[in-house]
Amino acid sequence: RAKGTTDDGYKVFHHQMHTQAVQTLKLETDMRHALDRNEFELHFQPIVHLPSMHISGFEALLRWQHPRRGMVPPLEFIPVAEETGIIVPLGEWVLRTACETLAHLSGLLSPKAGPLTMSVNLSARQFRNKRLADTVESALSMARVPAGSLCLEVTESLVMEDPARTRGILRQMKEIGASIAIDDFGTGYSSLSSLHNYPFDTLKIDQAFVRAMREEHFTARNGRNSIVRTILALAESMGMGVVAEGIETAFQKEALHAMGCAHAQGYLFAKPMAFSSLESFLLDAEDLAFGPFGSNGEQK
Ligand code: C2E
Ligand code: MG
Ligand code: MG
Ligand code: MG
Repeated sequence: RAKGTTDDGYKVFHHQMHTQAVQTLKLETDMRHALDRNEFELHFQPIVHLPSMHISGFEALLRWQHPRRGMVPPLEFIPVAEETGIIVPLGEWVLRTACETLAHLSGLLSPKAGPLTMSVNLSARQFRNKRLADTVESALSMARVPAGSLCLEVTESLVMEDPARTRGILRQMKEIGASIAIDDFGTGYSSLSSLHNYPFDTLKIDQAFVRAMREEHFTARNGRNSIVRTILALAESMGMGVVAEGIETAFQKEALHAMGCAHAQGYLFAKPMAFSSLESFLLDAEDLAFGPFGSNGEQK
């Protein structure tokens, strides 16, 4: 008999499902208190302008410091926050905190430094919430940051869930003055031809494509890099900016730069960092004309 069709196999499967359900439930109840107990934190990862190697902005990434479990990764708790609806107040907190942080950082920079942007991820349920426009507007006005410095990141799957409605909400966000990025581009099932139906300003190339960029593919003709090239050409033809995600090697950085990719984000430059490290990081980076990064990617 095939595996999994025995009674025992069924029990094992059932037991695992049960354990998982119990864990999810536990996470849910813990999460209800986490906001009040200040267990959530935002970390910030720099986005680098490749031609100048200057920092053009940061992406805000949510962290949950669980009292017993330690750091719970977002891919584990955000789906639960979505299901329970906690993502709505949590997302409001993220938007407010990200805008406040941007105001703080912008105040530190010398006037000659270009304006910084702050990117915030939005999930489907947050996106469908009627209060989203108000939340975005009040986060911006409370922190007194220009709307143009806020970038909202949405994924292809969020967009495809309800294209007509998405278009309406994105237009609202554009009216407020925020910019919109399509995140993890290339991993979803949206058709390339539908891209121009949405007011995206920036396209973020998923890290899977960047990870596939290795030297051997470049020496062999027509390597996988043709995917990255195609995405870059697509973005350019639509007048969209590009950020490549997940840059880990100097080779990837050089190759992307050579292909004309303007912005990049990844461990090579910096991992997402807590607010407490942000200030000195940014000031160090500003001091050095060519940015803080050595060719081996270590922070000098
Ligand atoms: P994302 O928006 O695509 O964020 C980029 C993810 O790639 C982050 O993972 C970041 O830490 C990771 N990353 C950056 N550079 C590198 C690299 O060089 N190598 C590797 N291997 N990874 C890199 P993280 O922080 O675990 O977040 C995972 C996802 O959780 C995010 O993917 C986003 O979809 C979601 N997320 C994070 N914060 C929020 C939030 O505040 N709200 C919502 N709705 N979703 C969030
Ligand atoms: Mg993102
Ligand atoms: Mg991404
Ligand atoms: Mg992602």
